[in-house]
Amino acid sequence: MGKATGFLEYERKEDRSETCERRIRHFQEFHIPSDESERRAQAARCKDCGVPFCQINVTIGGMAAGCPLGNLIPEWNDFIYRGNDRQALARLRKTNNFPEFTSRVCPALCEASCTGHLHGTPVTNRENERYLAEYGFEHGLMGPEPPAVRSGKKIAVIGSGPAGLAAADQLNRRGHSVTVFERADRPGGLLMYGIPNMKLDKSVVTRRTELMQAEGVEFRTGTEIAAPEAAAALLAEYDAVILACGAAKPRDIAVPGREAAGIHFAVDYLRANTRHLLEPKSRLDAEYNAKGKRVLIIGGGDTGNDCVGTAVRQGAKKVTQLEMLPCPPAERAPDNPWPEWPKILKTDYGQQEAIFLYGKDPRIWQTTIKAYLTDAKGKLTGVEAVKLVPVKDEKTGRFRMEEVPGSEYEIRCDMVLIAAGFLGAEEKITEAFGIARSARGTVAVRTPAGHQTENPKVFAAGDCRRGQSLVVWAIHEGREAAREADAYLMGYSGLR
Ligand SMILES: Cc1cc2nc3c(=O)[nH]c(=O)nc-3n(C[C@H](O)[C@H](O)[C@H](O)COP(=O)(O)OP(=O)(O)OC[C@H]3O[C@@H](n4cnc5c(N)ncnc54)[C@H](O)[C@@H]3O)c2cc1C
Repeated sequence: MGKATGFLEYERKEDRSETCERRIRHFQEFHIPSDESERRAQAARCKDCGVPFCQINVTIGGMAAGCPLGNLIPEWNDFIYRGNDRQALARLRKTNNFPEFTSRVCPALCEASCTGHLHGTPVTNRENERYLAEYGFEHGLMGPEPPAVRSGKKIAVIGSGPAGLAAADQLNRRGHSVTVFERADRPGGLLMYGIPNMKLDKSVVTRRTELMQAEGVEFRTGTEIAAPEAAAALLAEYDAVILACGAAKPRDIAVPGREAAGIHFAVDYLRANTRHLLEPKSRLDAEYNAKGKRVLIIGGGDTGNDCVGTAVRQGAKKVTQLEMLPCPPAERAPDNPWPEWPKILKTDYGQQEAIFLYGKDPRIWQTTIKAYLTDAKGKLTGVEAVKLVPVKDEKTGRFRMEEVPGSEYEIRCDMVLIAAGFLGAEEKITEAFGIARSARGTVAVRTPAGHQTENPKVFAAGDCRRGQSLVVWAIHEGREAAREADAYLMGYSGLR
């Protein structure tokens, strides 16, 4: 806890953001951290609530509530309030390998389940966490800490997203020699080539991977492990293998006209833009440049919002975002009480910017497309959209979205970005290792909560095991897989 009466004395005050007008002119992070005294006041708002749901990773109503990492939030809020940032950081690092990532991109399940949120506003845990992470880097508390003794065991991690990085970090700290194989030219997975710069500057990712290198983790970028020979070689050379290769198979919207030029998957588009920002001398392929174009994004989720923010910055003429589901309510519904994750309408940074620029919310709810429309040369000119309505399935009691007959209409556009989710791990990796896939397309594991696959030497973590998820879950998964691999190699594990 912070100060017993802090929640009565101080209002929740979030860090300021640059105005939409300013921030759409660049691709940098745009939050302006509060000063130290404000941070201490915000930490003081953490009260002695008895059962801090913020730090408990529990499933309520079929959904996760509280921090998946079990971050010791009341403890570090208390230390921040008392001015002991060093100790606060030490407690934070007990459970979270990469607070500089989660404090920038996590939707903060902890704040949704904060007791302060029951009848008021939650503690600014995410911003407090960011303060601590940056305090650590600024004060030399995040320097390289290579293990004193090496175990002699060799571990290969395939994929360098947050799951692979967390597994590598844990296993390296334990003294094992870890090599991370990454097919992209830079490590970081979706932290590097998915989440846009304005949410997570790429120097923050590189700062961490360079630190891990200094601690002894080897990164082999530009190396894909996808052929049976490569998998066999790895299994022969290493004592254990962790698959952390993400859920990179995008869900397609393969309706007539899909072959038209100008239709891209969201991650390909975001990756091209990030690469261009990292290498300003390189040309941004015109196909991935929204400048002057009418952009249609299919998918109303977070990835779709990142496409909105990117297209706005590239200078799109118009941005529209389609979502199949109905618009969520502004307030929690009675069947979605605290401390569950609130299923309410969120207007994210990209959507706010589109509202500022074009004067209206880019989202159109309960709508999908039936066809891509093209001109005589096969160039994309628009889509045939159709309205949807929820219909209750009498057998299952679940709702499904059905087309409204006769509601078709045309939306004109020059570029379509498909942000309709992901279908699981790529087949080639499971085939290479001879490992089964689950019905959901993820890497199959022996027990529902476990990470070991049918090959006892091979473990799986992150989106490839769990399905498309969040950075905080990927870190949790990496830590869990590391603990299981460590126990497999050593007979026990002290990793937590
Ligand atoms: C556009 C976008 C925005 C997002 N924004 C957020 C957000 O704001 N907050 C949040 O919490 N989550 C966000 N997410 C989700 C989050 O990024 C993922 O859940 C998380 O990155 C998954 O981590 P991972 O390590 O399992 O996989 P990934 O991050 O996908 O990393 C997998 C890595 O494995 C590599 N790889 C794959 N196959 C091979 C192979 N055969 N050989 C070698 N390397 C291989 C890939 O190149 C990749 O680098 C976002 C996702 C997307 C797509």
